[in-house]
Amino acid sequence: MTLRLGGLVPWSSVDYPGYQAAVLFVTGCPWRCPYCHNSHLWAGDAGLSWPAVRSFLETRVGLLDAVVVSGGEPLDQVTSIHEALKEIRGLGFGTALHTAGVSARRLQGLLADLDWVGLDIKGPFSRYQSITTRARSGDAARASVEILLASGTPHELRTTVHPDLLSGDDLVAMLNELAALGAPSVTLKNFRPMGCPDSRLAATYRPWLTPELAARLRAIMPGVVLPTS
Ligand code: SF4
Repeated sequence: MTLRLGGLVPWSSVDYPGYQAAVLFVTGCPWRCPYCHNSHLWAGDAGLSWPAVRSFLETRVGLLDAVVVSGGEPLDQVTSIHEALKEIRGLGFGTALHTAGVSARRLQGLLADLDWVGLDIKGPFSRYQSITTRARSGDAARASVEILLASGTPHELRTTVHPDLLSGDDLVAMLNELAALGAPSVTLKNFRPMGCPDSRLAATYRPWLTPELAARLRAIMPGVVLPTS
């Protein structure tokens, strides 16, 4: 199996909520979001091999619940990722995936071997190209949301908010779209400057959630999870 890997975090309690997991970071992503905090994983290879990762995981059997595959964008290497997920399950671990939904067809092909998916939502589907810099990325994301919701796979939809990229009206539009697709919840997270390749964004971030906006968002989607600071 050829797998370009960017690193391995041996233990995490936050990347698959409720579970103790190792996190495997893969490289490669077809999108270029300006706030990406893993831009160092857009290309390259850290020299870590899958056999070395597997050997490590074998020492964690009974100590960890699951393995999260993150990136970068795991769907960029979908064939090898699928093989890895099957081997991870074969060791007795649960499986989780972090993705932006760059290909609904590829996501669909992995779902039978996934216990949980964290799906990044960039904004209203019409705003995707301005955030990812890639044409038709909103179409891919919408199809990924539809497939994930229809599958019944446990998941979290989550959105990074920087007020220069998403206005309050954008967030209202996004929640209306997701609610119309049947999503009961989306978690909104504050932009973090760590790893961001766009220094201007890091400099212009400011608080964005007003009580009025919180009320508008909760009126559309009562299950929306808002940042507390
Ligand atoms: S889709 Fe994710 S990994 Fe790819 S550029 Fe955007 S934030 Fe970074």
